[in-house]
Amino acid sequence: MSIMLHCLFPSRAFLRRTIVTGCLTIICNAAVAEVELISPAADDPQRTEPAEPFEIIDGIYFVGARIHLPSYLFTTSEGHILMDTAFDENVSEIVENIEKLGFDPDDVKLLLSSHAHHDHVGGHANMREITGAITVASAADADVIESGGATDFRDTGLWPAGTVDRIIKDGEQVKLGDRVLTPHFTPGHTKGCTTWTTVVEEDGKQYNLVVLGGLNVNRNEPLVGHPKYPDMPQHFAWSFARLKVLPVDVYLGAHGYWYGLKEKRAQLLAGADTNPFIDPQGYQDAIRFWENAYLERLMNESHGDTK
Ligand SMILES: [Zn+2]
Repeated sequence: MSIMLHCLFPSRAFLRRTIVTGCLTIICNAAVAEVELISPAADDPQRTEPAEPFEIIDGIYFVGARIHLPSYLFTTSEGHILMDTAFDENVSEIVENIEKLGFDPDDVKLLLSSHAHHDHVGGHANMREITGAITVASAADADVIESGGATDFRDTGLWPAGTVDRIIKDGEQVKLGDRVLTPHFTPGHTKGCTTWTTVVEEDGKQYNLVVLGGLNVNRNEPLVGHPKYPDMPQHFAWSFARLKVLPVDVYLGAHGYWYGLKEKRAQLLAGADTNPFIDPQGYQDAIRFWENAYLERLMNESHGDTK
């Protein structure tokens, strides 16, 4: 992937083209996008609100310690797959949630991640130790996981360094028992950000499920000309292009507010006729929102505003 991304864009021409088409895209998107996916402030209680674990759909469970920081358990016929471990201090609560559902943490065989930021992989080292699971990651995110954040292009603090046992390539399927997960690299938010897909079944119908890795431009970091990540604008553009055409029915992501986790969970537990997590329109709206936000940042920074 890196070869393809590097040779795709002469950067000035790319930025000019993207900004021109971006103006038109924002105008078009503004007419249809209705969501406002703004990250809760640091002191917002949403960030610390706990949640009981529950089954989202077809053997896929929310086991996160916080609504804001989902972890997902994918059960299979030969053990389980856990995706994201939040902060190190959340690990014991995630383990408790797995046990509350009647599952054994020792049966977690694979540990995956959405992207290598502190609030998603900070607990990886601890969780690997507790469960004995094999940690799987893209090469670019593995580097950050194994350095405990020291090699991250952002300077946002360190966490316990993890061990990555298996490096995956874009599209290389991860299989355990009867479950198959496919990684789609969606770089930009981190260099190795990964969106995962699988197929689930409910009431005799099959659905395409996605766990979105991350599409928001990082706060307090330049998008254009980042000294540690100069390809960031091109990578985001590539990620938007591929995610817009991904077939999605069930929409999940690395943060709860991205897809209305709290509200949909309440609807599901109240006995909704149709599983509220089946939300293809919500997925498309979210992609449009972040693409608009990205294009606005790109235009602003290209006019000299670096924040
Ligand atoms: Zn992040």
